[in-house]
Amino acid sequence: MGGNYPIRIQSMTTVDTMDTKGSVEQSIRMIESGSEYIRITAPSMKEAQNLQTIKNELRRKGYNAPLIADIHFTPNAAELAARIVEKVRINPGNYADKKKFETIDYTDATYEAELQRIRERFTPLVKICKEYGTAMRIGTNHGSLSDRILSRYGDTPLGMVESALEFLRICEDMNYYDIVISMKASNTQVMVQAYRLLVQKLLEENLKPYPLHLGVTEAGEGEDGRIKSAVGIGALLEDGLGDTIRVSLTEDPEFEAPVAKLLADRYLKRAGHKEIKPITTIPINPYQYFRRKTQEVNNIGGSNVPRVISDLSRLNDIQLTDLKAIGHFYLPLLDKWSMNDLGSDYIYTGNNKVPFMLPNGVKEILNHAAWLKAEDKQNTYPLYMVSEFTADAERHKALNFLRLELKELTTSLIAELKQSATTVLVIDTNNLHAMPEQRRLFFELLKNELTNPVIILRKYPEMEEEKLQLYSATDCGALLIDGLGDGILLSAELVNVRDKEEHLKLIKNFNNISFGILQAARTRMSKTEYISCPSCGRTLFDLQETTAMIRKRTDHLKGIKIGIMGCIVNGPGEMADADYGYVGVGKGKIALYRGQNVIKKAVPSEHAVDELIELIREDGNWLEPSVQEYN
Ligand code: SF4
Repeated sequence: MGGNYPIRIQSMTTVDTMDTKGSVEQSIRMIESGSEYIRITAPSMKEAQNLQTIKNELRRKGYNAPLIADIHFTPNAAELAARIVEKVRINPGNYADKKKFETIDYTDATYEAELQRIRERFTPLVKICKEYGTAMRIGTNHGSLSDRILSRYGDTPLGMVESALEFLRICEDMNYYDIVISMKASNTQVMVQAYRLLVQKLLEENLKPYPLHLGVTEAGEGEDGRIKSAVGIGALLEDGLGDTIRVSLTEDPEFEAPVAKLLADRYLKRAGHKEIKPITTIPINPYQYFRRKTQEVNNIGGSNVPRVISDLSRLNDIQLTDLKAIGHFYLPLLDKWSMNDLGSDYIYTGNNKVPFMLPNGVKEILNHAAWLKAEDKQNTYPLYMVSEFTADAERHKALNFLRLELKELTTSLIAELKQSATTVLVIDTNNLHAMPEQRRLFFELLKNELTNPVIILRKYPEMEEEKLQLYSATDCGALLIDGLGDGILLSAELVNVRDKEEHLKLIKNFNNISFGILQAARTRMSKTEYISCPSCGRTLFDLQETTAMIRKRTDHLKGIKIGIMGCIVNGPGEMADADYGYVGVGKGKIALYRGQNVIKKAVPSEHAVDELIELIREDGNWLEPSVQEYN
């Protein structure tokens, strides 16, 4: 791993480590689906010991994928596992510390004494790793930082980095370098900032450029899980950071590797892309989220949430019912419109003006020439190409869209845009290395102090749905997490659409993905967020089934975050971001959390979802689901 090796794909088993047969069978399924390393939890000595049996069995069957022991809290299990498997993952937040959720004021001397204590606890493991040639991952998790780190650095990317560096410095002192580092978080902004800061600190301290293991923790399942993973992991891969990936999904682990592989394989053909002019200074802070300051144009930019524009330009003969695909529903009996949480804000219809009144404040964008011919020029908005824009054409009084690429942003256009308070840019790219070219365009805007809002336009040729989710989430999400972008337009212009049904399906897909990306980048919350762990040998209930059950009853609670965690050992820390938590505490027993506080300690699992809803209701956050007659 690392150096010039390909980006390695890995995944983690979910069956009990003491279930040798189950672990071996699951590992084989994972290897066959593309996982190059297999991680297995070793919560105590007996599981660490059983790794030997699992390894023997896998090798006997001809499977040679390196095994990784996953350790939390138990140095003795780590020391045993390091003699058996190829790599040991330790969590610096809990290797030498027990979590008491205490804020302690450390003096420099008491802090130093703590570091000394860690050194004593950790040194034996490093010695064993050196002796056995075992690699190590120093795996920081945002959700499980030690009380010591939290007291000094807070719940920050810097705290995450420092947490790993405390252990890394000990390794280097002992001349042990077979290390990979991770900075995982379920918050994609924090995760990306932490990895970047880690790389910076390694450079500053003259430490080695260790390989990075990338992952977004508790990403969830299905489309949301894939989009969230791609936003975080993809953003870093685009910048050449990342040597191994695990995509954590609340699904069977053999579904993780193919997703990770799609993310990684995208870079096999990236070399040789059209050159992007280098920069000497970065006009954004890569370690902290700030949204680019823009002037508000209509309801775009300023402090408005990023907008979703749906591309209907190739849809001939648009009917009322077609808008269902973009979250707007015509109810014929009531002669009214209704919308769901994923109702698109604007539609781009190109040359095909819709022949009916649009619902719920949806606004229509037409190509400039079609707009000139439209009867109602007031309530539709023109989209210009650069040549049309600079030809002194007629403009809308309030809102105009200008589509451009980086190379079209000339000095004279910059001067013109400075005078134009009504122009929103729709930025396009044809560079294979698309996100960085679009980012470069943002940098030019910042450098020239242009405050026009920007819609990120991305177009993809025909591809399978999962790939589309991952690519678009990487490309748009990587910009949004840096505060760049005031909206998304996923364009269908490169897709060969065969019939209307297929076309509407694609439009619906684009719409859902756009909202998903905005949510995953934490720039617009339009649905309930589930922070569910991927499950492992510690899991105390069926995570997939429970997540599906909770989701079914709560997925209309827009903006609320619910953590669903398999065990009390790591669960509460890992769901640091959630408003409510559902955590396994024993067989058939669930603890319910409000934020980080446990409210009910051991609810029988058959009542736990009802009690969770009761808790949400008590806080005034519950809404009765509306009857969706238009579905
Ligand atoms: S929170 Fe989930 S994945 Fe993490 S240790 Fe517990 S059961 Fe395993």
